[in-house]
Parts: sequence; structure tokens; C-alpha cells
Amino acid sequence: MKPRIFISRRIQESAIEMLRKYCEVEIYDSEYPVPRDVLIKGLEDKDAALILLSDRIDKEVLNNAKRLKVLSTMSAGYDHIDLEEATSRGIYVTNVPAVLTDAVAEFAIALMFAVARRIVEADKFVRSGSWKIAWSPTFMLGSGIAGKTLGIVGLGSIGQAIARRAKGLSMDVIYYSRTRKLDFENELGISYAPFHEVLSKADFIVLSVALTPEAMGMVGEKELRLMKKSSYLINISRGQVVDEAALTRALKEGWIAGAALDVFSKEPLDPDNPLLSLSNVVLTPHIGSATFEARSKLAETAAENILLLLKGDVPESLLNPEVMKVRPIEEIKML
Ligand code: NAP
Repeated sequence: MKPRIFISRRIQESAIEMLRKYCEVEIYDSEYPVPRDVLIKGLEDKDAALILLSDRIDKEVLNNAKRLKVLSTMSAGYDHIDLEEATSRGIYVTNVPAVLTDAVAEFAIALMFAVARRIVEADKFVRSGSWKIAWSPTFMLGSGIAGKTLGIVGLGSIGQAIARRAKGLSMDVIYYSRTRKLDFENELGISYAPFHEVLSKADFIVLSVALTPEAMGMVGEKELRLMKKSSYLINISRGQVVDEAALTRALKEGWIAGAALDVFSKEPLDPDNPLLSLSNVVLTPHIGSATFEARSKLAETAAENILLLLKGDVPESLLNPEVMKVRPIEEIKML
């Protein structure tokens, strides 16, 4: 009998095809997250599942997934999965780290240009029919990029990829991260500075920290007031890193020049969120990793992880290697 797989959302066809070749596949074919009761029902008779960040996999879900042997999440993060519970039931859990790095770094750079050169505001201006004077020496000026200082907060995979690109744009790069990275500093010619110094020196600040407990709310009123009035804040990390109410005041009252945000404390944004009425902020709907290339790789790697495990191979991204003591890999081999 072919292994049975549940896929909890409409994903890239290439990944579905990979699984269909060897398995019976059931898909919750929608752009929306799978309702919890459908997820529970879907997993009831399945050997493996390809799930997303929005699917909470807890005791209740696992209690009903009696045949489940493999859980592959199409995300780097895995906070949504009760790993301990899965391990105790002999379920192998995998994630997909690192395939989004380039896409998100490129997006951070795109946001920096968008806010500095007022691209969204300019586009709206043209479409609204307001463009009456062909060219004017003082019209819609923005900030240049070359020679400016970029401050990166959180120098992990994405932060480092941003730093490499910024050097190519002739920027000076300083950074603050939990741990200093001397080799990378030397390789790239960038320097470490304490958080408050990065805030006060940089012309552009990009937040690329992981959402650790210490990073929650790490940019609030005090930090925003340390920034230069001419500086810009770009957040591609997680909305909870920034105190959004303080940032809204900073943008309204001119403590900083502008911001570009891909992530918010509540997503999607409420229609009455005051950020929506400000022209010095660029807002995008959490699309940092949304390239054809990155998303295909993400889905295909998640599918590949399922196939590897069902063939009895252990993928590098197995999150709970101790599961092998609970249920040896030979016992989940179906292909
Ligand atoms: P990563 O490789 O884990 O890097 C995160 C970095 O943050 C690490 O270097 C880490 O510490 C540093 N850090 C953690 N807590 C800190 C703190 N309190 N103060 C200073 N630095 C701290 O993660 P990544 O893949 O680069 O992802 C970076 C962020 O982007 C994450 O928040 C992730 O959720 C987000 N993300 C967003 C999108 C999007 O669509 N917008 C897509 C993917 C990821 P060390 O200095 O100890 O290394």
C-alpha cells in the first residue's frame, strides 16, 4: 500500500508531484489556513503530513493522528509543533532551514530603496493624476544610499546576506548581535557596536533578529529617540520586535524620517491601524521570502524530507533525532 500524505494548504505543484509519484496525497486545496477540525480529520489516517507555520500541532491533534510517522513543516520555524509530544509518539519532525535567506535579504534591500527613494509614494502620486510639472530640482527628494551607514540588528543568516549586499552598494556596515562574529567582520570589513551606538550612528537600521524573549519589544520609544531624525527603520524580522505604537508616534512626530515594514505585531493589519494613514512608511504583507525560487525550494525540500524518511534515510533537518530511540527508522520505512 502506498503511504498516505496530508498537505495542509495549496502549495507549489512541483512539490505535490514529487509526493504523488510515490504516495496517495490529500490536499486542503486553499489559500487559507486549514481549519483545525479539517486538519485533525485529515491526519486521522495519514502516514505523513506536510504542514505550514500556521498549523498548530499539539497533543489534541496528535492524539487523533494514530498512524502518523512523519511531520514535515514547510518553514524554518517550528514553534507551532509540540516537539516533545511528537517525539514521545515516535513521529519524525523536520523543518526547512536557510532556503529563504537570499530572498529575504534582497527584500530588505528593496525596502530600503523603496522608503529612501519614496517609490511607493511616487507611484501613488503618478496614478492619482497629481503629476503636473515635468521635472523640478526640489521635487520628491529622498535619501541616497551610497556612503551611508547601515546598522544591522541580528547578524544571523539573513543579517549576513544583507551585509554582503550593502557592501556592494558602497555602504558602511555596522551591526549589533547577541554574539560577536569576528571572522565575518574581518572577511567583510564591517564592525560591531553596542545596540545604542548602532541606533544613534546608522542612517538605515535593518532588524533581522530572531524573536527571542530578549528581542521582544527591543525597539521602543527610547530606542527610536536614539535614532537620527534623518534615519530609516526597516523591519523584516518579526512584528513583536518593535513597539508599533511608539513607532507610529515616531513617524508622525518626525523622530525618524521613515520606515519600511514587512512584519507586524498582528497580521493581517487591522483596517484602522494608524500606520495605514502615514506616507513615510512602506507596508508590505509579510512577503519577504515570496520569490518563485525560494517558495518552490521551500515546498520541494519539505516534500523531499517526507520521501527521505519514508525511504529510511535521515534528513539533515530532522529536529528530534531522539525519536530514533522511540521508533527506529526501519519501522517507518514504507518506500
Ligand atoms: P537566524 O539565522 O537565527 O539569525 C537571527 C540572529 O538574531 C542571530 O544572529 C541571533 O543571535 C540574533 N539575535 C537573537 N536574539 C537577539 C537579541 N536579543 N539581540 C541581538 N541579536 C539577537 O535567523 P534568520 O534566518 O537570519 O532570520 C532572521 C529573522 O527574519 C527572524 O526573525 C525570522 O523570523 C525573520 N524572517 C522573516 C521573513 C519574512 O518573510 N519577513 C522570512 C524569514 C525569516 P547571535 O548573534 O547569537 O547569532
